[in-house]
Amino acid sequence: MARKFFVGGNWKCNGTNEEVKKIVSFLNEAEVPSEDVVEVVVSPPFVFLPLVKSLLRPDFHAAAQNCWVKKGGAFTGEISAEMLVNLGIQWVILGHSERRQLLNESNDFVGDKVAYALSLGLKVIACIGETLEQRESGSTIEVVAAQTKAIADKVSNWDNVVLAYEPVWAIGTGKVATPAQAQDVHYELRKWIESNVDAEVASKTRIIYGGSVNGANCKELAAQPDIDGFLVGGASLKPEFVDIIKSAT
Ligand code: PGA
Repeated sequence: MARKFFVGGNWKCNGTNEEVKKIVSFLNEAEVPSEDVVEVVVSPPFVFLPLVKSLLRPDFHAAAQNCWVKKGGAFTGEISAEMLVNLGIQWVILGHSERRQLLNESNDFVGDKVAYALSLGLKVIACIGETLEQRESGSTIEVVAAQTKAIADKVSNWDNVVLAYEPVWAIGTGKVATPAQAQDVHYELRKWIESNVDAEVASKTRIIYGGSVNGANCKELAAQPDIDGFLVGGASLKPEFVDIIKSAT
């Protein structure tokens, strides 16, 4: 089963109007493999979404970095999934470890968000990953399986889900997982999906890696059989993001 390579750029809480325009302009000029080969999605902060959407080339897409867990209303400071749909945004990142850790988003809460966003037709990049302490205590698979289960319990159609394995110890640290470490977890995740969801979903669902991916390490990671792309933070703000997109081929 061929899974289309996926490269997401998570800009996090970075950028000014001017910087955002510069990033979009190098993206728009980039020569990269076609949409049939690689799906490219960039995720600016909410306030820049309309600007990015209006300037970005049509073969790349924009994602939000979060959305509210249910229908909008009296939730000061939140952005609803309905609003994203209304803006024509197709993608949303949910369950990023920075939100799990700093804002205490639980597995259940993330599962609810994923289910709600999907119910409105959004496509979801659902993030999971273990801390260094969990890895060192040997519980990596148990942790990522529990995070995936919280999603699987609430989601019946996985067509619009991309699972992003992002070990917390590799995010923003420059300490990338080795290709073997990442492949090992991706393989186990696929096996988990096969046993707990179904074999077709396991073979179709893209499992992407995130955590200190850059222009220099992407090729070797991309060559792993169960790594179907990347979620890129720091390097997605720089021209080397284009090299990461090119690692699709
Ligand atoms: P990083 O972030 O590439 O800067 O490590 C990845 C992410 O948080 O999605």
